[in-house]
Amino acid sequence: MSPAPDSSDNPALGQALRELDVILANAGVGIVFVKARTLVRCNQRYAEIYGFDSPEAAVGCSSTELYETEEAACGLGARAYPVLAAGETFRGEQLMRRQNGEVFWAHLTGRLIDADEPASGSIWIVDDIHERKLADAALADLHAEQQLIFDHAMVGIVFLRGRRVTRCNRAFEQLFGYGPGELDGQLSRAWYLSDEDWKAAGDLCYEPLVRGDAFHAEMLLGRKDGTPVWCEVRSKAIDRSDLSRGSIWITQDITARKHAEQELVEAKAQLMAIVEQRTQELSRTVAALELKIAEQQAAEARAERLALFDGLTGLPNRHLLADRASQAIDIARRNDEPLAVLFLDLDHFKNVNDTLGHRVGDALLTQLAARLRGAVREQDTVARMGGDEFVLVLPLTDVAGAAHLATKLMALASAPFQVDRQELTVTPSMGIAMFPTDGDDFDTLCKCADAAMYRAKKDGRNAYRFFTSEMQAQSARALMLENALRRALERRQLSLHYQPQFSLDPDGEARIVGAEALLRWQHPELGWVSPAEFIPVAEASGLILPIGEWVLREAVSQLRRWDDAGLPGLSMAVNLSAVQFRHADLPQLVERVLSEIGVPAERLELELTEGAAMDDPAVAITVMNELHARGVLLSIDDFGTGYSSLSYLKKFRVGKLKIDQSFVRDLTDDAEDRAIVDAVIRMAAALGLQTLAEGVETEGQLAFLRRHGCQAVQGYLFSRPLPAEAFAEFVLARTAPISAY
Ligand code: C2E
Ligand code: MG
Ligand code: MG
Repeated sequence: MSPAPDSSDNPALGQALRELDVILANAGVGIVFVKARTLVRCNQRYAEIYGFDSPEAAVGCSSTELYETEEAACGLGARAYPVLAAGETFRGEQLMRRQNGEVFWAHLTGRLIDADEPASGSIWIVDDIHERKLADAALADLHAEQQLIFDHAMVGIVFLRGRRVTRCNRAFEQLFGYGPGELDGQLSRAWYLSDEDWKAAGDLCYEPLVRGDAFHAEMLLGRKDGTPVWCEVRSKAIDRSDLSRGSIWITQDITARKHAEQELVEAKAQLMAIVEQRTQELSRTVAALELKIAEQQAAEARAERLALFDGLTGLPNRHLLADRASQAIDIARRNDEPLAVLFLDLDHFKNVNDTLGHRVGDALLTQLAARLRGAVREQDTVARMGGDEFVLVLPLTDVAGAAHLATKLMALASAPFQVDRQELTVTPSMGIAMFPTDGDDFDTLCKCADAAMYRAKKDGRNAYRFFTSEMQAQSARALMLENALRRALERRQLSLHYQPQFSLDPDGEARIVGAEALLRWQHPELGWVSPAEFIPVAEASGLILPIGEWVLREAVSQLRRWDDAGLPGLSMAVNLSAVQFRHADLPQLVERVLSEIGVPAERLELELTEGAAMDDPAVAITVMNELHARGVLLSIDDFGTGYSSLSYLKKFRVGKLKIDQSFVRDLTDDAEDRAIVDAVIRMAAALGLQTLAEGVETEGQLAFLRRHGCQAVQGYLFSRPLPAEAFAEFVLARTAPISAY
């Protein structure tokens, strides 16, 4: 510091002054002695601060010039003077000016040398605080900025110390539904859903916070009102080496995002499920489709083969036949030429199948097909309609030609067939229809030929018949009968007549043992219609079911009335149609009728024609067994006309064979019939069956039957079928055994 005071005459003072000089020279702060606003002395640091080359260079300088402006200098003077004058130390911060003009912040500490004598000057300690001031200002700015961010942040920010809120922003309060300041000082437990959650969160964040890492998690927290809220939480220790200084937590509501995520996950799962389901459906569909296509292809291939030709014989089938026939008819019509349609059906072919098996039947049909094909011309068509039915379309064939061919076919078909070293013979029945007399189209001609074929069968088979106008009339009458028959029951046009049945006792007596109920129909215009005519109509139309039930009820009721009237205990025979017989309900119906009317089952005898029984023997056996089990008696009607096979006959649960009247009729003149009747009686006896001869009209017939051991008879010789009252009178008049006959 210069200039130094003289100290040569006082060594101690000199020493003190030197020491002071060193201190001043090396002090970290600027020190200046000012007197009358003029710098008197300063140290090195002061000179540096103000930009003087040396302390000496500062001496004499006006202190006012060291301020930014003159006003600033006056201002400080005004502030400092009262303090200094009071003998106290003035302290203040002041903007000053360096020699190079640069303005800077300085901290001033001033004191008067002598408080009582202000003119003696003052000492000032000057510290350059410009850097610090700038830093402070920057810090203040930073702080202000931070506060702005804190206050207006979109995320919740909370400072915790010891898990208590030291400070939090509004966003944080709002996030959890608190009012301003409400959370200050609160435990962070406030926004956890449970104590366990709170503890778990504390445990979880400890490690990262100690490490100085950020803790980051998504947590389900709770609002003030208890509603849960998904939050994303980021936290960091304020001082990782001293956790007691607390931590900052930044919290954001991610409920919406969570929901969106959840929905996304669900939607994805749903989508996957749908895709999976669709995939499965699709693969199923594809599989089904492939199967269908394969089936279709197979079916198409089969159909292609089957569509036009019969699989067994290789002959055209009904489709190809229809096609060819239509063409042939067109040509015939155009050229005004004749044409014949011939329908051929084998007699009793079913027996061949049933007894020898289908393989044999098929072999026979194949051979027959070849014979038929070989018998006709190139332009003729031979087709198989199915079963044992064949249809021939013969262009350019008139009645004579058709008859000629029919005779030829008759011989061909009847010639023995060789199957597996077996020799088989069959006979055909044929019907012929002529174009254009019988019909103009194939359908009509075919129907006519079919009807004619039925006529051939009816006339005893092994024959051919031409379609006739009489057949035409017959089918018209059948239609008319069917319509009339529909109303016959309700209009009470039906009644029953009863024909007595007699037993031929070994002593020669003939006693009435029963009655056969025979249906009668009297129509107001048509008169008496024969059952032989209307029963087939009833069968074909299904009317036989209600009619048959009525017959059963009426016959059983009549029997009951006779019993009540004191007639001897007779049996009642009721005829059954094949249609009734095949109806599933028959055994139950019979049982019901008997129990309703109160007649024991063994008093009823059901008659089934041999043809019906043999139509489907397996079914017949089942139904017979059911009826037999209920105690009802059974007999085979018209025996001898139906080609019974002995093997079936053994299995039928019948007690009686009724020998058909066609054999009885000619007994006296026809040796063959005699032989047949004799054989039937013997065979029945061998099988343990009774025999009853129908249609006995003469004494001669009766004598023959009696002689050969026939057990029962029925016929005009004894009585025609009678109305109920007449029958009762007949019985009562003959309570004594009839020995006259
Ligand atoms: P069927 O059961 O064989 O009955 C015997 C037929 O021969 C009866 O004809 C009867 O009147 C007749 N008859 C009886 N004695 C003599 C005789 O000495 N000489 C001649 N020439 N005929 C005699 P009907 O009553 O015309 O019945 C014809 C057929 O109609 C019956 O033959 C039977 O198959 C059927 N039928 C009759 N009534 C019914 C019925 O209620 N239901 C069913 N499904 N068929 C019935
Ligand atoms: Mg009968
Ligand atoms: Mg009969």
